[in-house]
Formats: sequence, C-alpha cells, structure tokens
Amino acid sequence: MDPTANKSRIEFQNNVLNYDNQLFYLFESFSGLKIDHLVGYDAIVLEANDPDFTRIILKKFRSHSNSEFYLKPIFLINYKSINDPIVDQLHDGTLVSFDQIPEKINDIQELFVRSTHIDNSPSASFEVLVMKKILNYMYTRELRSLKPYPDLHSAIGFTFPLLSINFETFEEGKVLEVLDWAQKENLIWPDFHDRVYLCNSCGAGHLSYREICPSCNSANMKSEDLVHHFPCGYIGPISDFKNKVDSVLGCPKCNKALRHIGVDYDKPSIINHCLTCNEVFQDYIVKALCLQCKSDSDVQYLVSKNINIYRLTKKGRNAATSGIITSEYGGTDDVFGAVDYKTFNTMMHYEQERIKSNKALSTNIAVLHLENVFDLLRKLGKSKEKAFITELVSLIRENITPADFINISNPSLISICINDATLEEGLMMMQKVADKMEEMVFNNFNKFQLILHHKVAELNKDIVFEKQVAELTKALTEQND
Ligand SMILES: [Zn+2]
Ligand SMILES: [Zn+2]
Ligand SMILES: [Zn+2]
Repeated sequence: MDPTANKSRIEFQNNVLNYDNQLFYLFESFSGLKIDHLVGYDAIVLEANDPDFTRIILKKFRSHSNSEFYLKPIFLINYKSINDPIVDQLHDGTLVSFDQIPEKINDIQELFVRSTHIDNSPSASFEVLVMKKILNYMYTRELRSLKPYPDLHSAIGFTFPLLSINFETFEEGKVLEVLDWAQKENLIWPDFHDRVYLCNSCGAGHLSYREICPSCNSANMKSEDLVHHFPCGYIGPISDFKNKVDSVLGCPKCNKALRHIGVDYDKPSIINHCLTCNEVFQDYIVKALCLQCKSDSDVQYLVSKNINIYRLTKKGRNAATSGIITSEYGGTDDVFGAVDYKTFNTMMHYEQERIKSNKALSTNIAVLHLENVFDLLRKLGKSKEKAFITELVSLIRENITPADFINISNPSLISICINDATLEEGLMMMQKVADKMEEMVFNNFNKFQLILHHKVAELNKDIVFEKQVAELTKALTEQND
C-alpha cells in the first residue's frame, strides 16, 4: 500500500469503509481477480500501481453484463497514467489519498441517481444488448461521444474503450460492425477521424508492408537511379556509370564523363533489381503481410475502414432511459410452429374468454428467458440464426401439446401458452423443455452452456393478458441480477 495512504485520517478496515452511508471496497492486487462478491458496494477504490492488474479489473467491471457492475463508480488510487486508453477512459476519477474520498460522495450519489433512470427492458438482439450497455454508461457519466484511441492491444489498431472491452481481442472488427449498426439505427452519427486498412481475410490491422518483385514476390531487391546520357542516348542504372576509383560518373557506351545533371544527363526514374530472381523492373508491387493470419495481399485489396468519432444523436441520448426501439425484429416472424406477437395476443384473448366460461378449465402461460443466447448467436452468425430458432421451436413443440402456441418476441424471450393443464403440469413441461434446450445447445454448439430461466403462471381470467406476460417477463429478467 502507498505510504501516504497509511497516514490518511480515513482508513479502510479489512478493505471495507463506510463513509457518509456509502460503502467502499478497496480492491488491491492481493484481492484476487474475482469481482462477483462486490455487488453490494456503492463504490470501488482500485489500487492502480500495477497497470496490467488495473486494466484487468477495470475491464472485468465494465464488460460485465449486469449494470450493478458495469455502472459501478470506480476510483483509482496511486495511479500514474501510462497512456493505456482502456484504463484512462474507464475509471471515475483518481485519488491521491483516502482523505479525498469525501470529495467523491456527491459524484457517487449522482451516478446512483442517474442509474435509477435507466430502462431495463430485455434486449432484442446482440447489437441492442451491447449498445444499450454503452449508452447506459454514457448516460450515467454524461458522456456525449465515443472516441477512438490508437491502441497496440487492438487488432485494428484503434480501440473504442467502452465498446471494445466487450469483445475479445481478435473480435475487434466486430466493434466496427456494431458501430455501423448503431449508426444505421440513428443512435450515433460519425465524424471522420482517420482511416485504417485491414486484412481482407481476417480483418486485422497489424500488417507489414513491403515493396516486392513482380515476378518472384521477393522483397529482397535493390533500387537505383536510372541515368540517361543525352549525348549518346544511353539509359541504364547508375551503377553502370560508376567506377571503383573515384566518384566521377562515366558513360559505359560513349566513355564520356558525366558533368552536370540537367545539362548532359538526367535521372528520369528509379530502376529496381531483384536480388532473388535477377529481374530488373520499374514498378514494384506493395504487399501487406497480415501478422495475424499470415495472408499476404496486394495493398489494393485491403479493406479500408473509416475510424470515426461518434456523437450521440437525440435518439441515442434518450435510449438509456427509454430503451432502444429498433426496426422490429423480423427474424422469428415466420418460424414454423410459432406465431407472431399479434396473433399470439389474439389467441390469448380467445383463450381467456374460453376459460372464463368454464370454471374447470385452467391454462398456463410460460415465459422462457435465454439469458446468454446472444453470445451463442454472435458465434453462429446472422445466417444461421433462423435455423437455430426453428430448431428451438421444434424442440418445444415435441414437449407440449399441438393445441399450445408459441411466440418468440426476440431470440432471448419465448412465450408459450399451455392449454388445459394444471400449473403443476405446466411447470413440469417447462422444466423438461428447459433441460432439453440446454442439452441440445450443449451437444450441438461446442458445449455452449445456455443460461435459461423460466416462469410459469396460471392464466388469470381477470387481468389483461399482456400485463401478465409483461410481469412474468419482468420478474424473469430482473431475477438474473
Ligand atoms: Zn489476416
Ligand atoms: Zn524477383
Ligand atoms: Zn554516353
């Protein structure tokens, strides 16, 4: 620990401090790398004298999927900037000693109040999920723009700290895809900053450029001036005009000494000589070797991408508190065995009327929340998304009766109406469906562990059905915290 910290009037007891009703946790390098037990603290003071450790811990908090972690106020103590944008951009202030903690109380309360404004409705796609996180963070910190920073750790050479931490290093290209998406959705608008050139097979930006021989692809070549001797018209590389004795240039054709450039001779261009295949040529090719995937391509085939500073639009600024409304998710509309939201609603109304007229009837509504399905869909890619959803629906169908109906409002939320069953039967059916889904995903998708929660409730005859589903969904998505 820093010696000045020991002299503080304010001190932590076993890494915990309660000051002005705010609970602080002092995170030190020997605190380990786990953060899950810190959910209850109002703020974290992170001992930042080890840059790698600081980076790891900040990244853990800010990339967490739960807002209790990614929005947590974090202050650095004993921090000397080493120009790491990930660290520099993701903390909430620095402390020289614990005695400065009282100065931060207002900030912490302010951050807390702003975090209570945030809309928590479940996200309809991976892009919404990631972008909503970023917009929530920006809202609480009152940030208006997403800036790129040059970063050696980034595969594309630039990092957008808040966004990039949600991706693996080799996935940096996807950061740009999400930004493109957010721009299309009118959440952000771009201001040109710089341009990068990326490998056309893997998207990485760590490239080694070389001038190479057009006939054998070797970079082992020598460039020389080409000399044109006016009196006799001889043109050749300058080495033809040199001698071993002095620096006077002599023409190999007419043996005259060259005098003044521009008067009796000229250097019209450069000539290249390949030392591997001996070829002599004027124009070399520039190739870029990708240090990541080793593909070597002509620079003209590299993918050029603009790196922009992105500013929030009005829609973007409001998104944290009102949710991201996108062009509706169309991917599940025509999945065989499921009905769209409108049809589902209509059918549920009829069902409600049907059970109202007969006291002996009982119907259940079930909601399944596939918490981390977007992590899987991101790996599968958009093209396989629909096939995956269709597979899920047919798996559900195998475990319910033909009269029951299914709606998928987005890949992470599935609603099912289980007709003519007791709550107990409904619960059993859904447990079975959940188990089978987890098993299917685990076996078919590289042991991916689907995190799945479900809730079943008896369809109430008197409460509007949309409200019941909304309450079930809310209970489900909030229980994950
Ligand atoms: Zn590559
Ligand atoms: Zn060559
Ligand atoms: Zn000559």
